[in-house]
Amino acid sequence: MRVLKVASNSNQLLEAETMYKVLDGLSDAAVVTEGAEHRVVFVNTSFARINPAVRGSLLGRRLIEIFPRAGFRIDKVLESARRTGETVTLDKLEIYGPAGHGCWKLTAIPERDGRYLVTLLHEITAQVREKLDEAVYKSRVMAEERAFILESLIQSITDPVVLVNSLGQVIGLNREAADYLGMEPGIFFDRNLDYPSTALRSYTNGVRIPRSELPAFRALQGEVVRGVEMIIEPNNNSDVKRFFSLSASPVRDAQGNIILAVSVARDITERVNFEKAKDGFISVASHEMRTPLGIVRGTAQLMEMGLRRRAEKAPTLKKELDDKVERGEISADTRSGISEYLAVDKEIQYCSSIIHWIDQMARMISEVLDASRLESGQLESNNRSFDLMPVIQEVCQRLQAVSENHRLLVEADEDEYMVYGDQSRLNQVVNNLLDNAIKYSPEGGDIRVELKRRGEDIEVKVIDSGVGIPEKDQKYIFERFYRAQNAMPGTFGGLGLGLYISRQIIMEHGGRMWVESSPGKGSGFYFTLPSDEAF
Ligand code: ADP
Repeated sequence: MRVLKVASNSNQLLEAETMYKVLDGLSDAAVVTEGAEHRVVFVNTSFARINPAVRGSLLGRRLIEIFPRAGFRIDKVLESARRTGETVTLDKLEIYGPAGHGCWKLTAIPERDGRYLVTLLHEITAQVREKLDEAVYKSRVMAEERAFILESLIQSITDPVVLVNSLGQVIGLNREAADYLGMEPGIFFDRNLDYPSTALRSYTNGVRIPRSELPAFRALQGEVVRGVEMIIEPNNNSDVKRFFSLSASPVRDAQGNIILAVSVARDITERVNFEKAKDGFISVASHEMRTPLGIVRGTAQLMEMGLRRRAEKAPTLKKELDDKVERGEISADTRSGISEYLAVDKEIQYCSSIIHWIDQMARMISEVLDASRLESGQLESNNRSFDLMPVIQEVCQRLQAVSENHRLLVEADEDEYMVYGDQSRLNQVVNNLLDNAIKYSPEGGDIRVELKRRGEDIEVKVIDSGVGIPEKDQKYIFERFYRAQNAMPGTFGGLGLGLYISRQIIMEHGGRMWVESSPGKGSGFYFTLPSDEAF
């Protein structure tokens, strides 16, 4: 055993040698240092587990040098023990020595007023690793549990669910989605599966949905998307083609960054097919109803014409009858009987009323037919360039003739408003808005139509001072069959289709339609159309 001299007299020498012998027998590593520089005066055999250098070569060196990475920490602990004269313990010290990485518990015991320090190092690598393993194990268990919960959650949803990461890759599918797309269900992070390539997605009108408009990608931009109706055709089986209503939401991490989009699809194929069948039926039924209605109208018109002819001849015939009575050729009773036969004003009124209600009915049937054609994209159009102004004037004149209570006014800042489109369809829109303005202003009053040029658009406004539309209904009145609370059954007649059709027509012409209304004060219906010069 080679040691530096640590004793000044023989007694002390004996003590020191005894101590070294004891230290040498320890399984813990031990090192004795001297002075403020902590130079090594003794290392025991077990110290080789930390530094396997020849023991002699370590003597006289500073402790800081023989523990390359942990040296400073050890130095600090030793210094504190040396200065205070008290035992200092360091519970865990990681040493990256020539013998590899290990964890040690360090106890520095001052000797002889801190001149010497006995430092014991007890290896705790196994315990630390065990603890570490436990922590790693726990976090792995937690991660697995989370993944399990996430997977169970998406698997428990009976609608197809797809998880898309911020790179646009599929990282999870439930069974419903996987079965439909012909893929494996589960949560996976290593497949680099581009979401758009998993199926062909198009809007219900067959137009392919661009990548940026896919609900999952819109969600990755932070949007919460609800109820986008589309057709999804799996890549592996183009025979399968179903309609879905898709919703997607972004998922954020603790910092608020979007890390995921969850896309949930609801199969609406049955509903769409049912609606198609219903629209088909409505279309056929309303088409069929038009024929008998046309015949009834024609007959009523013929009757009306006959009656009018009779009414026209009545004054002359009555005069002739009077002469005959005077000449005694017929009796006064016969005369009054024939006069009664010639008085047909009431009958003419009845006929007009029949024609009026048949027209109402025909209009409603046309609306139903138009609405079903719009739904199936079969509303034909006959486009050309024309001036909107005379169209509006003609509708106003026609409606003014049948509505004495209202004053229809047209205001415009220019003489001509050229548009490109289907004149009869746009006529239908203006007619519908003015018809509504009249219908929903039962007290009468002014109805103003204003035309203005707004940039490349022409804006048309129809303003009435009628019953107005309740606030909560305003956003729905352009939907099919929607009637606001102001039009409850028994008040104003109608099917709730006119505005739906009108807005669709305007949209097909590249314009917009909206409403501004104050309940009780009146409504303003607006639409825009691109000016023909804009094409
Ligand atoms: P309807 O045949 O019921 O008039 P529309 O589609 O033309 O159908 O209008 C839908 C609903 O919007 C109407 O039922 C009515 O509640 C409301 N509405 C439309 N125009 C007006 C208006 N000028 N004033 C008040 N309410 C209106």
